[in-house]
Amino acid sequence: MSRLTGLSRSVAGKRAIVTGAASGMGRATAHLFADEGAWVAVVDITREGVDQVVAEIHSVHGRDRAHGFVVDVGDHQQLHDLVAAVVDEVGGVDILVNNAGISLPNSAFQEEGDYEANWARTLDVNLTAHSRLIRLCLPFLRAAEGGGRVVNIASTEAIVTTAGLAGYAATKAGVVGLTKSFAVELGRLGINVNCICPGPINTGMTAPIPDEAKETYARRRVPLRRYGDPEEVAHMTLNLCLPAASFVNGAIIPVDGGMTIRHT
Ligand code: NAD
Repeated sequence: MSRLTGLSRSVAGKRAIVTGAASGMGRATAHLFADEGAWVAVVDITREGVDQVVAEIHSVHGRDRAHGFVVDVGDHQQLHDLVAAVVDEVGGVDILVNNAGISLPNSAFQEEGDYEANWARTLDVNLTAHSRLIRLCLPFLRAAEGGGRVVNIASTEAIVTTAGLAGYAATKAGVVGLTKSFAVELGRLGINVNCICPGPINTGMTAPIPDEAKETYARRRVPLRRYGDPEEVAHMTLNLCLPAASFVNGAIIPVDGGMTIRHT
């Protein structure tokens, strides 16, 4: 009898869609998957951002490893067109990383028009897009050799929250619920659906926060006493997509330096 069954730790040859791939964690994820031999659909909202990351990947791995798609994930039709274009290009989808996200202010005391507009846009981009893209990819994830994989990027804002970010916190808690429900429903089809809750990470989203404020926050709240790097989240995403992670389904995994388990 062999010592182990030989589950693979490689995503080489897999076809992955990564949304929000022009910056931060999405960019790191796109690079990491390409480095590990996957083909990556680099999806983001601006042509400039998409082209930049695709050019970076092409310069390391050649032109066959990535293709760029300019998509507003908040638009249903554009998501339809994205999946059709990816399938046209590479014949299927094995891995979906729902990462694109925005953080707009939503305070209880905000002027009604601003509140409503920010709430609606946050829901469309951070939550509805995740659910739509999973459904659009379903036939292909089902057909993926060895099983399809979905990783949804939520946030520790799903667990502990910040004043003035009601819409953001609601969508991130929503992503956790969405992950669990689809994990239960799609498991029998061989599709594993998992969720990562990043803590404070140095990305475009947190770039406007002054360094001093970040340091103070990290010292007080994060046991590792620092912000995380996008790569540290990308590696967890990769782990969840390995063939060897075949029994991980419906998991909600904080990648937060211990922030959410800290009491005093
Ligand atoms: P980022 O701003 O660096 O990257 C987000 C990317 O998403 C950007 O390239 C942006 O253009 C893209 N995007 C935004 N709206 C889009 C749309 N409608 N269509 C297509 N692309 C769109 O930020 P990040 O921190 O890397 O964010 C990645 C994910 O991580 C987000 O879901 C965010 O909510 C989550 N997150 C971030 C932190 C953090 O501290 N940075 C913590 C927890 C969770």
